[in-house]
Amino acid sequence: MADWQELESKYYMRTFKRMPLTLVRGEGARVWDDRGKEYLDFTSGWGVNSLGHCHPAVVGAVCEQARTLIQTSNQFYTTPQLRLAELLVDKSCLDRVFFCNSGVEAVEGAVKLARRYGKLHLGGAYQVITALNSFHGRTLTMIAATGQPKHQEPYTPLPSGFINVEYNRVNAIKEATTSETCAVMLEPIQGEGGVNVPDDDYLKAVRSWCDEKGILLILDEVQTGIGRIGSLFGYEQYSVEPDIMALAKGLGGGVPMGAFLAKDKASVFAPGEHGSTFGGNPLACSAGYATLKFIIEDDIPNKVKQTGAYLISELERLKTKFSFITDVRGRGLLVAIQIAGDISDGILVACRERGLLLNPVKPSVIRFIPPLNITKNDIDEAIAILEPVLMDVGKEK
Ligand SMILES: *Cc1c(COP(=O)(O)O)cnc(C)c1O
Repeated sequence: MADWQELESKYYMRTFKRMPLTLVRGEGARVWDDRGKEYLDFTSGWGVNSLGHCHPAVVGAVCEQARTLIQTSNQFYTTPQLRLAELLVDKSCLDRVFFCNSGVEAVEGAVKLARRYGKLHLGGAYQVITALNSFHGRTLTMIAATGQPKHQEPYTPLPSGFINVEYNRVNAIKEATTSETCAVMLEPIQGEGGVNVPDDDYLKAVRSWCDEKGILLILDEVQTGIGRIGSLFGYEQYSVEPDIMALAKGLGGGVPMGAFLAKDKASVFAPGEHGSTFGGNPLACSAGYATLKFIIEDDIPNKVKQTGAYLISELERLKTKFSFITDVRGRGLLVAIQIAGDISDGILVACRERGLLLNPVKPSVIRFIPPLNITKNDIDEAIAILEPVLMDVGKEK
């Protein structure tokens, strides 16, 4: 058997801090490595495998579409793209959609649209206010939007046009707004920033401010969208409607795809002003349609509410038991625990050895993003692995 980790170190760019684990197969909430060891996967490919690994609805749609028509370019109409567009618009507060291939493309497309709006309706305003600790992806422009120095500093000078302000404080946005501001862009809950949940009235206050100033509200729902926090879209839980929304991660059920949607008033692209070779191709859109349809018909967001509340209550129980757990936070199945000290790596290694995969979203924050259709039994199994690991950590401390 090839030594895949050796090949990686020789041939792959040195950008990922990988677990020493080569995965070869997945089914539901489980994956297997090349030695046949089974793991319970609470990382879901970073929240992408919304229905778990290789869900039959997704696999069936992909296989059938792969035999029928994979790619055409957007010179032509294709049916999977339009079926998915109709379903997304029907189930959201937005009127039009554009498909792309990743989260960063979706968010960057959303910003391009806001800039276009600024040129046409706001006297050329182009600045976008975003939050510190946010995450909007890895292109040069989106790291300028991402309010985290560790992503920005290696690549300065960055494209201009972004102001990063404190999250969860509407006055920070008010103070940063000028006649050059065309939009505010936020995550309903910050995912990569450490699962930071804002106050209940934050987004509402931001929405009012945007309305008062006539500027756009963009919600980056790449992580919170498609059922992840217990509603089909995150904005539903905060009683606001965005003008533009970006989606990706869970949208394709594991297949790469992204989208941004806009209200009619903000859908200002003219023909030729934006495009994509692969975006909206039949293969990805078939996967997206099968995933979204299943999530809606099976009432997955409601199930996420219940299983998410159960996961949080179990983690709260561990928090009362272990004083080094200083916080449990999240909504639905976007959940994290904060650990005193940067010891999450040790916890992760011990969990992995016992068959549970978790994600260290920060050195002191462990994130739980299992598939949306996870069962209570799976959660019990994960906790039964985590609890003794924490017990050992407690002894060492
Ligand atoms: C993951 C993520 C992105 C970037 O998505 P990619 O598919 O990795 O480009 C953007 N915004 C948010 C909120 C994300 O969680």
